[in-house]
Amino acid sequence: MEGLPVNILVINCGSSSVKYALFDGHGKMVKSGKRERLGRQSEQRAQTHQQAVASIMDDIAAFSIDAVGHRVVHGGLDCQQSMLIDEAVLAAIEKHIPDAPMHNPFSLAAIHAAKNNLPDVPHVAVFDTAFHSKMPRRATQYAIDQDIATRFGIRRFGFHGISHEYAAGIAAQFLERPIDELRLITLHLGNGASACAVEFGRSSETSMGNTPLEGLVMGTRSGDVDAGVLLTLLRSGEFTVEELDELLNQQSGLAGLSGLGNDLREIELAAAEGNDRARLAINVFAHRARKYIGAYAAAMGGVDAIVFTGGIGENSASMRARILQRLEFLGAVLDDDLNRDAMVANDQDFAVITTERSRVEAIVVKTNEELMIAKETQKVVSESQAIAPKPIPIAISARHCHLTKETFATLFGEDATPTVYRELSQPGQYACEQRVNLIGPRNRIDNVRVLGPLRSVDQIEISRTDEFKLGVDAPVRDSGNIRGSAPITLEGPKGRMHLSEGLICARRHIHMHPDDAATYQVNDKDEVAIAIKGGVRDLIFGDVLIRVKDSYALEMHIDTDEANAAELSRASQGDLRVPDIDDDLNDDSCVTATDAQAVVVDVVKRLK
Ligand code: AMP
Repeated sequence: MEGLPVNILVINCGSSSVKYALFDGHGKMVKSGKRERLGRQSEQRAQTHQQAVASIMDDIAAFSIDAVGHRVVHGGLDCQQSMLIDEAVLAAIEKHIPDAPMHNPFSLAAIHAAKNNLPDVPHVAVFDTAFHSKMPRRATQYAIDQDIATRFGIRRFGFHGISHEYAAGIAAQFLERPIDELRLITLHLGNGASACAVEFGRSSETSMGNTPLEGLVMGTRSGDVDAGVLLTLLRSGEFTVEELDELLNQQSGLAGLSGLGNDLREIELAAAEGNDRARLAINVFAHRARKYIGAYAAAMGGVDAIVFTGGIGENSASMRARILQRLEFLGAVLDDDLNRDAMVANDQDFAVITTERSRVEAIVVKTNEELMIAKETQKVVSESQAIAPKPIPIAISARHCHLTKETFATLFGEDATPTVYRELSQPGQYACEQRVNLIGPRNRIDNVRVLGPLRSVDQIEISRTDEFKLGVDAPVRDSGNIRGSAPITLEGPKGRMHLSEGLICARRHIHMHPDDAATYQVNDKDEVAIAIKGGVRDLIFGDVLIRVKDSYALEMHIDTDEANAAELSRASQGDLRVPDIDDDLNDDSCVTATDAQAVVVDVVKRLK
C-alpha cells in the first residue's frame, strides 16, 4: 500500500455482522468498527445489513473515501480473482446465492448500500474462493458422476481464502523464506473453520468444499459427515430440506456436540468441570483438525510450518496443544510455555509455539482479512487505471531437458560436451545436437532435445500429454523449482541416469527485459492473465508467470498442449524473432514461434 494517497474503506460482511475498517494510503488502519447481531429472519436480515452499512457511512462521514473493498464469500468460477464490481460481477455473486445462502445475499445488500452512498468511487469485490481457484483438479472434484457434477456445478471451491493467504504470508515473513519455497498448513479456526495446504504459495487443498459446510468441526456447522447420513434422515420422513440445512449449519459442530452453544470458552470451562459432552466436543474438534494436518502433510509430501489463526486458533492454547499432540512424528514439537504465553493482539503479529529443535514450526498469526482486502482493492484500482500495453510474441516450447555437467557426462560420456544445434531466442541459450530418451513407468519418449548451456540442476520439461504417456505425475512448476517434483530415468548413448526428482510441466511464463516490465507495469514473479490473439481459438490464459532479467528478450512460452488448446499455427520464418525450423509442434523442436501474439489483460496477483 506504500505511497499511494488513497483512503480505502473495507466492508467485511458476515452472515450476522458487518465489520468495517478504513485504511490510509500507507496501509495504516485509521478507523474500524462492527455492527453485530443483525436480524435472524432472512428478509429482515438483508434489510438490516443495508441499514448497518448506512450507519457505517455516518461513522466515516468525516473522511474522503477513494475506493471501497468488499469481502465476498462465493465468486465461483466466474470470479477467480479480485475484481472491480460491475454488472457482471454483481450477477456472478447473485448466481452463487444458492451455494452460500448465509453470505452472498448479505454481501449483495451491503454492496448496493455502499454504492448508493459512495457512487463515484470504484468498488472492488475480494473473494474468499479466489485463493483456492488454482487447486489441482484432484482436489476440486468429488468422485461422483461427472455429467451430474458439471450440470449442477458440483465441485470443491474452498473458502476463507483471504485469511489463509494472509496467514501464510505472515508465516513466510517469520520464517524469512520466500513463500514459493514453503509447504504450509494454515488452520483458520473460528466460528467457521477450515484448513488449507499452502504449497509453494498456492492453495493446493482446503477442507471446505462446494459450500462452507465441509471439513473441520465449526461453531455450529458439522464439517465432514457421511453423505449417507443425509439419505437416512431424508428417508426417515422427519426432516424437510430446510430442517436438514438448519441441522447441519446451525445445530451441529461444537454447539451440537456440547449442547452448550458455539463458544469454545464456555465449552472449555464446562469440560474442566467434568461435563462429558463438552469434553467430547473438544476432542472431536481437535481430532478432526489433527487428521487434516496429517492428510495435508502427506498430500504436499512434507510440511515446513503449521499456522493457527481465527478466534480459536489465536486464543485457545489448550486447543492448539491438543491439535499438535502426536504430531512429533512430523517434526512438530510443542513448547508448552511458549504456547501458553502466545499473544497475538496486534496486526501483523505472530508467535512461535514450537521448541527450537522442532523441524516443523507451529506459528500463531492474528488474521487480518481487512488489510488483505484493502491491499487487493488498491491493486485492482491501480491496475484498472493502467494503459493496455503492446502485444507479446508467443513461442511454443516442446519437451526438453536441462542437464548438469555430471548427468551430461553419464549420458554422453566423460569427454562429451554439448554441441550447438541452433541458437534460441533467449540470448545465450541454444538447442544441442544431443538428445536423450525419457523412460517412465508406463512408456518412453525418445529423442528429447537437450538445451544448453549446462545447469547446476537437472530439469526435464514435458507437457501433460507426455506425462500420461510416460505414466508419471509431474507438477506444474516455475523453472528452477524442482524440489519434490517427479522422478524420471534418462537414457543416453553412453549410459542411464535415474533422477529422483526434476521432471516438471513448465508453468507458462513470459520472459521480459526490465524495460518491458516497466511498459507493462509488472514485476518479476507477478502472475498475469494473457489473451491470445491470432490462434484459431482466442483464449485467455490465467496464471502466467512474469520473469524479468536484463538478458531476457520479450517472449511468452507455452507448451504444446497449451498451443494446441488455442490452435496456434507456427509462424513462417522471419515473422517473429524466433526462427521456426521444425515440422511438428510435438517433435524435437524446443522453441517454435507462432503467428499469434499475446496481450496482458490483467495482472492477477503479486506474490510479494
Ligand atoms: P472468529 O469466528 O474467528 O471470530 O472466532 C470466534 C470464536 O473463537 C468464538 O466463538 C470462540 O469459540 C473462540 N474464542 C475466542 N476467544 C477464545 C478464547 N480465549 N479461548 C477459546 N476460544 C476462544
